[in-house]
Amino acid sequence: MLSTSIFSSGYNVLFGVLSLFLGIASVFLVRTSKEFRGLFLFQLGGLFVVLITYLTSNEHVLYKVGLNFNFVAFVEMILALLASVIWINAAAELQNNQPANREMLAVYLTACLTIGLYFTFLNYSQKDANLFNSIMALFGLSLLLLVTIFRSVEFFNLGNLLLFCSVFMLWGKLIVSAYFFTYSWLNLNIFNWFWIYIFTAAVIFTKIHQQQTDLQKSWNMIDKLNLQFTAMIDSSPFPIVISKITGDRLLLINHKAGELFGITKKECAYFKLEDFFVDTENRRSFFETLEKNHEVQDFDLMVCNLINSSPFWLSVSAKTIEYNNEMALYMAFQNITLRKARESSLMFQAERDPLTMAWNRRYFEKNVPEKIKKSLQNLQNFSLLMIDADKFKNINDTYGHKAGDKVLTELVACCQNDLREDDIVCRYGGEEFMIFLDNTNTQSARAVAERLRQSIANLEVEGEQGEKIRFTVSIGVVSSEKTASLDVLLRQVDDATYLAKDRGRNRVEIYDEQLVKQIMKKKTPDQKRNIHPVFQNEENEEISLLDNYENKIL
Ligand code: GH3
Ligand code: MG
Ligand code: MG
Repeated sequence: MLSTSIFSSGYNVLFGVLSLFLGIASVFLVRTSKEFRGLFLFQLGGLFVVLITYLTSNEHVLYKVGLNFNFVAFVEMILALLASVIWINAAAELQNNQPANREMLAVYLTACLTIGLYFTFLNYSQKDANLFNSIMALFGLSLLLLVTIFRSVEFFNLGNLLLFCSVFMLWGKLIVSAYFFTYSWLNLNIFNWFWIYIFTAAVIFTKIHQQQTDLQKSWNMIDKLNLQFTAMIDSSPFPIVISKITGDRLLLINHKAGELFGITKKECAYFKLEDFFVDTENRRSFFETLEKNHEVQDFDLMVCNLINSSPFWLSVSAKTIEYNNEMALYMAFQNITLRKARESSLMFQAERDPLTMAWNRRYFEKNVPEKIKKSLQNLQNFSLLMIDADKFKNINDTYGHKAGDKVLTELVACCQNDLREDDIVCRYGGEEFMIFLDNTNTQSARAVAERLRQSIANLEVEGEQGEKIRFTVSIGVVSSEKTASLDVLLRQVDDATYLAKDRGRNRVEIYDEQLVKQIMKKKTPDQKRNIHPVFQNEENEEISLLDNYENKIL
């Protein structure tokens, strides 16, 4: 009967279903937010009040089905009590985000129940019972109304305003239903459900507003964090740069980085990272490593200062980060120019002969096998020249050791002047030098050796007393045409040099197996054992500076 009354027409069913749907949807929206729990309770209280309204307006129907009027009055009283308790709770939630005080609620409940029971069972009067029910519900609703008004004023927005209207409507409806339910238009079901629409709209608006507020808070937080981040970067003792990943334009630099690169913090947007790189190969390998690992640790970069454009070395640690909603590169630098200078000086000392500044034997043994590998890969020949100063002992004896040193230095300088940059001139022994010629066959090597021999023979080195010292060299030549084994070639070039010595010095000799065999037969067992014959000659031969040479040439 009750349901027939509620859904008495097709429209009412439609509105009822729609309202329930909206009610459920808004409760769904409300469920995750603590803020909305109070509003949900408010809704629930409203539902109970709507139920009382129906009960009071349909009491005659209930009596007809045989229900005791005291019982009906009791049910109405319980519903009104529940509604008021729920609203008191809703008010407490909305105001303090906490449930209502339990002790106070218990007192309130006991008092209401006692008075309610008195009115419904002991001294029943429909008017008094209705009045009491209404007072209970109004008490709860008034609290809620006060809180809602307070909230609407404090947090004015459309959602809160709608909530206020919704509460106000329900409040009004309660009074009207309790006292004037005979006015049928006020009892229209559309009206009963209407506050659900207002409530739904209120929830949606308040939710949107809350999200906007949250968003604004997040932006404010991001701004604050950005400021902190910039301050941290600025106070770093290391130069720091943040640049875009694509197009590597600078986004942010700290003071130290500005000093290092010769730009100001404000100017940084006009520059790209590549403006500071000096070596393209170095730059390429940096970005390659970064692309592969998304970060780079202690990578040595050669960069320049834009004001004095002097290149210097930095060690960089870089990482891709998200900066202002885009992918960026965070780089922290350390100036390692001094370290690099020290390193290269140590490297120089470790790989160079300190007297002549030619490469030393260690360098030769480390790098020539690599060069040979490359030559073989490129199907190119290479050659070795061995230069041995002729009768060098005599130079020392005649002009002194210092003059001998000077001769060796000038010999190397002459070779380096005459050769390509890639050719390796190495001091292989006391007055023996090994030269590695890249991409050179026997014929070209012979030409180079001959040119060197002549240049050296034309050198004039000033002795300590101003004497003009002239000297010659013997040069052995081998090429990789027959074998590319370095060990074999070293032995062969040694033999070729010995051949040049044997055939009169101040000569260039290409390795020739037959000739070497003939000479070897003449060699004593001691000479055969030793790598280079010149060391044996010291004891066996009386060497004169002028032996076998024209008067002009030593
Ligand atoms: P040959 O034509 O047969 O090569 O005769 P040589 O005198 O050049 O050969 P030998 O091996 O007899 O002498 C090499 C000399 O080179 C002996 C050594 O004192 C000298 N020598 C080696 N290293 C240095 C150096 O660093 N400075 C000076 N001044 N002399 C050096
Ligand atoms: Mg010599
Ligand atoms: Mg020698």
